[in-house]
Amino acid sequence: MLVVKIGGGSGTRIEPTVADLTDILRAGRRLVLVHGASGETNVLAEKLGKPPRFVTSVSGIESRYTDRETLEIFEMAYCGKANKAVVEAFQKRGVNAVGLSGLDGRIFEGRRKESITILEGGKRKVLRGDYTGKVERVNAGIVTLLLDHGYLPVLCPPAASYEGEAVNVDGDTAAAELAAALKAEEFVMLSNVPGLLRDLNDPNSLVARIPAKAIDDFMPLAHGRMKRKLMAAAIALQGGVRRVILGSANIERPVTSSLAGQGTVIQ
Ligand code: ADP
Repeated sequence: MLVVKIGGGSGTRIEPTVADLTDILRAGRRLVLVHGASGETNVLAEKLGKPPRFVTSVSGIESRYTDRETLEIFEMAYCGKANKAVVEAFQKRGVNAVGLSGLDGRIFEGRRKESITILEGGKRKVLRGDYTGKVERVNAGIVTLLLDHGYLPVLCPPAASYEGEAVNVDGDTAAAELAAALKAEEFVMLSNVPGLLRDLNDPNSLVARIPAKAIDDFMPLAHGRMKRKLMAAAIALQGGVRRVILGSANIERPVTSSLAGQGTVIQ
């Protein structure tokens, strides 16, 4: 079993991954794709006159403040445009992909965090009405059902809260929980960078190998969203996944290259 997460940041290309996964599927591997759409959400939010608002929690984690209106824009971008674009790309290649969000069948489930404490101008401030959460449980039944019948599941946030509300969740950690639930041997996270870099401006400063036990030591190198990727790697490894690889989506055969050891291999 293989779980692949492709980022939705601006500049992340989907086509090389779709082509590569098509070949990997034809070779008989069982796999699931999870994708993001953060870049598309920002573009759409601007167009709809509701510019994104990113906040940093007191623990230093950056997230998108998601009021009800933002949640709806988020769904348009993730479940609408991005998910259907990925499914279409596979269908064009003859792969019978099925797109679902984590809300569908409660595939991704977790607690809604209705308020968030942020730091703004050095002051603590509580924001309410937030529709964000964290995936704590994966209900993989519908995913295995699809796999057993030869479909390729293509998943994305939002998740379902325990009360059944749609909540914005981080796609990397959701995919990591899924990889653990499906007992995947490998979990590949692709984005617009070649992996964890020591220096963001130097693509040659790649950290090639990280022993599972040493993830925390590398945390200071990761800024912004890269922190989440390392946290996701830790979740997957703790959940029994053997190998997590952070690789670039913008190369030929991104998944095959990652599995061959290109990128940051965490084991
Ligand atoms: P996704 O596409 O999955 O939403 P992002 O594009 O947000 O993910 O995450 C990758 C981003 O993380 C990179 O574009 C880069 O700007 C940022 N980043 C922060 N610190 C690092 C680091 N040390 N090495 C590589 N990327 C980093």
